[in-house]
Amino acid sequence: MLDLLFRARRVITPEGELPRCVGVRDGRIIAVEPFDAPLDAADVIDVDPAMVLLPGLVDTHVHVNDPGRTEWEGFESATRAAAAGGITTIIDMPLNSLPPTTDVPALELKRKIAQGKAHVDVGFWGGAVPGSAAELDGLHEAGVFGFKCFLLPSGVDEFPPLRPHELAGVLRRLHGLGALLIVHAEDAGSIEHAPAPQGERYAGFLASRPRGAENLAIAQVIELARRIGARLHILHLSSSDALPMIASARRDGVAVTVETCPHYLTFTAEEIPDGATQFKCCPPIREADNRELLWRGLADGLIDCVVSDHSPCTADLKRFDTGDFAAAWGGIAGLQVGLPAVWTQARRRGFGLTDVVRWMASRPAELVGLRHKGRIASGYDADLCVLAPDEEFTVDAHKLRHRNPVSAYDGRTLAGVVHRTWLRGREVTGTGPHGMLLRRGDS
Ligand SMILES: [Zn+2]
Repeated sequence: MLDLLFRARRVITPEGELPRCVGVRDGRIIAVEPFDAPLDAADVIDVDPAMVLLPGLVDTHVHVNDPGRTEWEGFESATRAAAAGGITTIIDMPLNSLPPTTDVPALELKRKIAQGKAHVDVGFWGGAVPGSAAELDGLHEAGVFGFKCFLLPSGVDEFPPLRPHELAGVLRRLHGLGALLIVHAEDAGSIEHAPAPQGERYAGFLASRPRGAENLAIAQVIELARRIGARLHILHLSSSDALPMIASARRDGVAVTVETCPHYLTFTAEEIPDGATQFKCCPPIREADNRELLWRGLADGLIDCVVSDHSPCTADLKRFDTGDFAAAWGGIAGLQVGLPAVWTQARRRGFGLTDVVRWMASRPAELVGLRHKGRIASGYDADLCVLAPDEEFTVDAHKLRHRNPVSAYDGRTLAGVVHRTWLRGREVTGTGPHGMLLRRGDS
């Protein structure tokens, strides 16, 4: 007997979009059968034919900022926003919380705080900073999904960048452990020599974070990965110039994967009004032609994943009083609207929901080795959502569930409304958080 059965005309499976019934027992999918298969369950959900059953998304790039900057976000609010956006697993970034996740006690503290507050499953990245080499083995053993580093100042003093010789040492050590290094790839020297961001002008901010800074840093980390034979993941790719270099490295057998974010696939520098610091993030949103080349990178398979880089803050830190791009906090809070934002752009360009699910669920799950997440297939966790792909809504920052009502998407009309979300077979309703804390290698 099944606990739960979904009958849906449109199910996104690894084989494509098909009419299926999906049977769940003990939180796992145990049957994916033709639509009319004679299955029965304690609870049967007939999905509206206009709606689509998707695997819950896996967002491997989220800054929860808890503990330490909980006025910016927190596990309760972030995971509610995630579930409302069809995301059932998040992996929390090691920085912007205090302390940052650069040693085991900091990780244990984070787990203690997240416990009982998570409405979706939560895993953790560790951080690699100068002087933290001795902590890498312990964090790896404790179950972090990999290690993040910066090559230039991160924006918070407690998470400094690695210098080149330290980067090589860290990558060698992580290669030895079989752990993944994830890199914020912008070159410090290039940005030091670029014009400083000035006041309200978006063009001035864009000029202060040139494509060349990203291109150079990506070239450098690729060469290091090639020499060491290590795995490497490039975070939040914004500069499409780097795509041919990534293609070339892959042809040579370098194990490099790449993510980009919904905001780089949605917005263009040309349309960002001066003073609109809700669009400030690093690397920056670039020109329309760059956006189209990022879409090409997805089509070509050069970009593996689309993840939110949800990096919220309080409204005052965005400095809307002055609109000063130099002073405003850099980060976009996009957790809840990532799926509709990407779908809105994807369908215009001829992509299907199967593509979106690959970028936002199955590939991110594979990136971090979550073998039971990101697919509607037998043996996978019953993490599911129902999406109305043709229904439209206008984003109201005050109605989003993350903590502070700041959103670059405010006022935008998007296609794709998430109606319901299930985590391991239980509907996420906001009562009684049922999220689990995940460790690398968990089954
Ligand atoms: Zn980030």
